Amino acid sequence: MSNFQLGIDFAKELDQNDPLKSFRSQFHIPKDSHGNELVYLCGNSLGLQPKLTKTYINDFLDDWATLGVEGHVEGNNPWLPYHEFLTEKMAKIVGAKPLEVVVMNSLTANLHFMMVSFYKPTAKRYKILIESDAFPSDKYAVESQLRHHGFDDKEGLLLWKPRTGEELLRYEDLENILKAHGNEIALIMIGNTNYYTGQFFNMKRISQLGHQYGCMVGFDCAHGAGNVNLQLHDSEADFAIWCSYKYLNSGPGSLSGVFVHERHAYDKNLNRFTGWWSHNKQTRFNMRQEFDVLPGAEGWQLSNPPILSMAAIKASLDVFSEAGFDRLLEKSKKLTGYFEFLLKQLGEDTIRIITPENVEERGCQLSIQVKNADKALFDKLTQAGVIADWREPDVIRCAPVPLYNSFEDVYKMVERLKDILN
Ligand SMILES: *Cc1c(COP(=O)(O)O)cnc(C)c1O
Repeated sequence: MSNFQLGIDFAKELDQNDPLKSFRSQFHIPKDSHGNELVYLCGNSLGLQPKLTKTYINDFLDDWATLGVEGHVEGNNPWLPYHEFLTEKMAKIVGAKPLEVVVMNSLTANLHFMMVSFYKPTAKRYKILIESDAFPSDKYAVESQLRHHGFDDKEGLLLWKPRTGEELLRYEDLENILKAHGNEIALIMIGNTNYYTGQFFNMKRISQLGHQYGCMVGFDCAHGAGNVNLQLHDSEADFAIWCSYKYLNSGPGSLSGVFVHERHAYDKNLNRFTGWWSHNKQTRFNMRQEFDVLPGAEGWQLSNPPILSMAAIKASLDVFSEAGFDRLLEKSKKLTGYFEFLLKQLGEDTIRIITPENVEERGCQLSIQVKNADKALFDKLTQAGVIADWREPDVIRCAPVPLYNSFEDVYKMVERLKDILN
C-alpha cells in the first residue's frame, strides 16, 4: 500500500492497470453545466445509475404493456417469482445463504418488522442498545418500539459511546456495558458500518458477546452492503437489514434487503407480522387456506412487491456480479488507500481522517475533518466539481467506490481541496 506516488501520471497509471476500469463506462456519471464529468464521491449516499437499469425497466414496461396481468407468469422475467431473481446475487454480496435473504419493503420499515420478531421485551429484559451516533432513522425506530411496548424511550435506550475526545467506538466499552446491563438488554442493534465515521464493526464479536448475555443482535448494514465484506451468515447475527440505493446503485428509495439467520428459518412460533406473500407459494392463490408460513427470510414478506424497483436492483446486481465482489473489495482497498495517502500529504495541521486506518475496520469511505473549516469550504469544493457530503460541524465524507470511481477522481478531489485550502 505504501508504494503510492504523487502526481497525476501515477493516478493515470493506476487506472490503466485497473482490471475493473471498464466498469465506469457502464454508469451514467453526472456532469457540470459545461459537460465535464463531476468527481462523484457520494456513492455512500446515492449510488450512480447503471446504464443497464433503463433496459431492465423498459423490459418490464414492455411486458406490462403487452401481457397485462399475464406478466405475472409470462415474459422473460415473470413478476410472481421476480424477487427470487435477486436473492442469490444479493446473498453473495452480503455473505449469506439464499434462504437467509429477501428483498422487500424499505429499510426503516424492515427494521420495524425485524423488531416485531427479535425485540421481545419482558419486564426485566427490555432495553435496547445502539451506538450513540446511530443514523437518526434507526434511533427513532428503536425509541418508538420502546414506547410501543410501554417503556420509557430514554430509560430503555442504552448508548455505546465513544470516549471523550474520540470518535471511534471501543469494544472494551461495549463489553463493560454488557457486564453491567447485559441481563436487562433485549436487543443490540448496531449500524455495522457507521455512517459518520466509516468505522466497520466486527459483527461476529458483537453477536457472540450479545448472545453470551442472552440478547438478540441485529445490524443495519445500509453503509456496509456492497461496500465491505459482511459475511452475515458467519457473523451469527440474528437479523440484518440494508438499503439498495447507496452502494447498491438501485435508485432513490429502492427496496431494502433483509437477512434472517438460518437458525430462525424454520421457527414457525416466532412472532411476526404477515401477509399473503409470507404464505406458502404453492397454496397462496387458493386464497382460503390456513396460514402456512414460508421458511427463511421470505416468510417475512407481506405484499406483492414493486417490480419497477426490483428491475433496478436486478440491473445493479448483474453489474456487481459481472465485476465480482472479491475483485471490487480488492480495488476498494487500493483506491481508498491511495486516497488516504494523498490526503496525508496535506499535513496533520490541516486535516485529520477520523475513519480507522486499519483496512479491516473500514470500507471505502473516509471521513475527513478539516481544521478550522466551515460549510463555506465544502461549498467551494462543490463549486469545483466535487460531489461529497458535509456533516456538521467540520467533516467531509467521501466514498470512492470501486465500480465507477477512478484513481484520477481521487487525485482530482485532493488537488481541488488543496487549491481551496491555499
Ligand atoms: C441510509 C440509512 C437509512 C435510511 O433509511 P430509509 O428507511 O431507507 O429511508 C437508515 N439507517 C441507516 C443506517 C442508513 O444509513
